[in-house]
Order: sequence, then C-alpha cells, then structure tokens
Amino acid sequence: MIKRNSGFANLTAGYLFPEVARRRREYQEKNPQAKIISLGIGNTTEPLPLFIAKAMADYSMALATKEGYSGYGDEQGNSELRKKIAEVWYRGMAEADEVFISDGAKCDIARIQTLFGSKVKIAVQDPAYPVYVDGSVIVGAAGKNNGKGYKGVTYMPCTPENNFFPDLSKVKKNSLIYFCSPNNPTGACATKEQLKALVDFANANGCIIIYDGAYREFIQDPALPKTIFEIEGSRTCSIEINSFSKPAGFTGVRLGWSIVPKDLKFADGASVNRDWNRVMTTLFNGASNVAQAGGIACLEAEGLKAMKDVIDYYLVNGDKIAETLRGENFKKAGVEVYYTGNSPYVWAKFAGRKSWDVFDKILSEANVVTTPGSGFGPAGESFIRFSSFGHQEDVKEACQRLSKLEF
Ligand SMILES: *Cc1c(COP(=O)(O)O)cnc(C)c1O
Repeated sequence: MIKRNSGFANLTAGYLFPEVARRRREYQEKNPQAKIISLGIGNTTEPLPLFIAKAMADYSMALATKEGYSGYGDEQGNSELRKKIAEVWYRGMAEADEVFISDGAKCDIARIQTLFGSKVKIAVQDPAYPVYVDGSVIVGAAGKNNGKGYKGVTYMPCTPENNFFPDLSKVKKNSLIYFCSPNNPTGACATKEQLKALVDFANANGCIIIYDGAYREFIQDPALPKTIFEIEGSRTCSIEINSFSKPAGFTGVRLGWSIVPKDLKFADGASVNRDWNRVMTTLFNGASNVAQAGGIACLEAEGLKAMKDVIDYYLVNGDKIAETLRGENFKKAGVEVYYTGNSPYVWAKFAGRKSWDVFDKILSEANVVTTPGSGFGPAGESFIRFSSFGHQEDVKEACQRLSKLEF
C-alpha cells in the first residue's frame, strides 16, 4: 500500500469554521424560532457592481462568437491585466512581468510553498489566517504538533501589549515570514515604520516575507502603507500575495495575483521570480479569462469607484459594531475593543473568559454568530472576531441585540 503523506498525518483537525457551523446548527435545531444573524464569516455579501459584472457578461457572450473566442491564455495572466495592476496598484513599485495572475490568494499561498520545500523554517503572526500554517504542515515544513503548536513554526504573538506588531528577535535566520496587513483576524494595520523594521530584519537575516495584502483596499488612513513595496529594501526580501476577493466581492468569481520582484534571490543566487514563473506555467494553467475581464474592469475608473462604494458600505458596519462593543454593557464587563477603521474586522478582548464561552453566550443570548479568536492561534484566546461583512440592516439588528447583552 502507498504510504500517506506524513504532512497530512501531522495536520491537526482544522476545526474552527466547521465547529462554528456545528454549534450554530445545534442551537438552531433546539431553537427553531431564533433568527440567527452571522457576524462570523469573512465572506462578502453585497452584489457585484454592475459595471464589473457587465464586463464579465460581455466577455462571456463574446466567447460564443468566432471573433471573441479564446482558449488558453498566458499562464501568468492576461498581459493587459498584469500591466494595469502594476500601474494602478503599484505605480512603478512593481513591473508587469513581476505580476502573476491567479485564481485567488489562498491558492497562491498554498502554491508558493512548493518554491521552498519541506526544509524551510516558518514564522507566523499569532493569531493568523489558518492557511499559512496548515499549508506548511502539508508540505512537511512545520513538523509535528506537540499540543502547543508545530515544532517547525515560530509563532509571533500579536497582542495589545505589543500593539499587534511582533517581536522579531525570536524569528530564526533564513525563515519564511508570513505577514498579513491589514490583519485577519486582529484588524491591525502595520505602519511604514513597522514594515521597515520587518524588511530590515528580513534582509539582515536571510528571510523572505510572504506579505498578504488581501485587505489593502480597506485602508482609509493615507499614512498607512498599502503594499510592502512602499518600503525601501523590500524588493530583495518580499513576495506579495493579493486578491480581488475582498475589494471586488470576487470570493466566488476567483481572481488574485502575486508580486515576485526580480531582485529577489535564493541563497544560491537563483531568481525566485523565474522559479515562480515555472510553478505558475507548470502547475497552474492561468486564471479564468472571464474573471480576468472582470479584473480589468475593476481597475478602470468606474470599477475603482464601484469597489470603493462597496468597501465604504462594509466600513459603516464595522463602525457600528465597534460603537456597540464600546457600549456601557460591554464596558462594565471589561471588554476591550480594537478597531482601526482600516479593515473589516473588529477584534475584542473578553479578559478572563475563554473565546468559545463568549461565542456560546453571544449565540444563545443574542442569536449572533461570531468567530472565537482562539481558533486563529493561541494568542487569540479570550478574543472574539466580529466581521463587518453583512447586509447593513442585519448588522444593525445584531448590534441592537448585542447592546442588550448582560455579562
Ligand atoms: C479572504 C482572505 C484572502 C483571500 O483569499 P482568496 O483565495 O483570494 O479568496 C487572503 N488572505 C486573507 C488573510 C484573507 O482573509
């Protein structure tokens, strides 16, 4: 018989979202009259802007004509889209041949690990988006879990005590450092000074930063960096992974991109960009041409405006949730609220309580689903993540119920 990939054997159950769904279902079965509202998911809820949807519809219809039909495109992506991303979102900080179009950021985060193999050391923010660690476990780079975490992974706590920016001194030389800003789940957004410290550390210690910028379009404060490539020195130590999922509501359409600078080198001097090009042309066959037509529309003036409107819509929800959690009933219970207005997540600390206990209380007493912070890593214990993805009328109703909660 064939032996199982030992990486899979090392994988501990990814139980966060299935467990959230199970508890919700169980509660609903026992309380069929309850109208449950979810502030738990990190999934977009608002319809696609018409301008963007129409670009995809037009492209699809053209595929039914002799003139408009096209089959396989360039595996690295439509050259117009690559160019537009470089121009509109990177303004000279990246060139078109450093932009690779994909079917989404999560898929790129998984694929990128093939570049580094099973021997590479890993460092992640704690708490973090689960795929950084789980993907590393599957490729064999994380080792076994001893109950406190995976042996090959350095966890970098990001807490109110350190202003959600990690102590880098614990990170080993030659590590891959996963860094997400604006952060899921904490909502923290790194400043230029913080990213400069990260870049300087990576350059001095032979590390490569995998920078996840999926929430960049939520950044409202003009002083905050929207890409790692705004930072001097970043081109010799950073890869950026990004996505149309959150800014354009493409969670179902599927479209993302990565930036791999030509200045980035492996220890032997080989070009990372060249190997990534090889991965994308060999293991991937290009993103959907329909989705890419939508991506091009996103980056036209009308598309950019439409994306901004949807983000503003979600941020109204975020503001409302943060305001609710700063209300008297939460204050009396000692709840601390972390919300920057530069991300769709509100992160709240219920000191002295377990995340899952707070989750259960909010579900049973307010019929609102949240996400327990402990599911994102040990440093997330006692926190709850509230998501602002949702219809405004639902979020308003959820907030009314939350404001009546007693602790
Ligand atoms: C939602 C999200 C993504 C986007 O993933 P896609 O595969 O592009 O949908 C990437 N990173 C983080 C941290 C996210 O929360």
